[in-house]
Amino acid sequence: MAIQIPISFEFFPPKTPEGEQKLNQTISDLSGYHPEFFSCTYGAGGSTQDGTFKTVAHIRSLGYDAAPHLSCVGSTRDHIAQILQELKAQGVRRIVALRGDLPSGMGGTGELHHANDLVSFIREQTGDWFHIEVAAYPEYHPQARSPADDLKHFINKMNAGANSAITQYFYNADAYETFVNAVRAAGVNAPIVPGIMPITNYSQLARFSDVCGAELPRWVRLKLASFGDDRASILAFGQDVVSHLCERLIALGAPSLHFYTLNQAKPSLAIIDAL
Ligand code: FAD
Repeated sequence: MAIQIPISFEFFPPKTPEGEQKLNQTISDLSGYHPEFFSCTYGAGGSTQDGTFKTVAHIRSLGYDAAPHLSCVGSTRDHIAQILQELKAQGVRRIVALRGDLPSGMGGTGELHHANDLVSFIREQTGDWFHIEVAAYPEYHPQARSPADDLKHFINKMNAGANSAITQYFYNADAYETFVNAVRAAGVNAPIVPGIMPITNYSQLARFSDVCGAELPRWVRLKLASFGDDRASILAFGQDVVSHLCERLIALGAPSLHFYTLNQAKPSLAIIDAL
């Protein structure tokens, strides 16, 4: 393996026995690359929450470090306090703390309104027990009132007690560099780890990017669209684009890389092997 900086991998909780089996194979394929940790997403609003903790416990039982994502939207202080105590009792030491997004039509926002409230609450309840990761948006959060406002909220979130951040995915290294420089200028020196999304499918990625506010550059969009159903060309081009992005990020001083695997090993490993 050629990569010289730490890496981590993100999963979502599988919903079926087949999905569990597939994830086990993925964990086995990725663990040979000695990730710093695996993380598992959490469904704000309830749908996959038990699956998150089950998946984290399973990965830890295999001997690897694993972090649950935990969101506060729609939840109560009591409920989150109970989750934190359970995670602590199990020996979990790392959490990805988020506001989350409630599925449309789901009622109130809960007692903790933003990720900074959740970070403060985790510190209040459990002191320094957890290493807390938070989300960062080099291309800005889609609901941000302005770049300056979003940056201010990010700094607040770090100052509330987060240890490090993982970014939303992006394909423009300049956005990452500019964001990190702005955070450093505000006096925050914590690691900001780029979130890396391998490119394996055009229409899904385009749709998802529109929703989460990540820019799929025009030239990448047009090239991907031009391949139509030619999956081999999409994969080869996507791997090329993302491995060049990773090389630039490493040159810019990225402290590590966090891969959004979508529970598949191959697309992330193809990028890592190409570095
Ligand atoms: P916040 O940091 O609270 O920011 C949300 C918005 O509110 C921003 O526009 C910000 O500028 C603004 N804001 C922040 N603080 C304040 C404040 N005090 N006052 C007023 N405005 C404020 N979603 C899931 O449901 N489950 C997951 O497992 C999950 N994992 C993720 C992992 C990563 C690495 C990333 C980058 C995102 C993840 N998400 C996940 C998506 C995330 O939940 C959404 O992007 C959500 O909309 C924002 O969450 P946040 O923690 O960034 O929110």
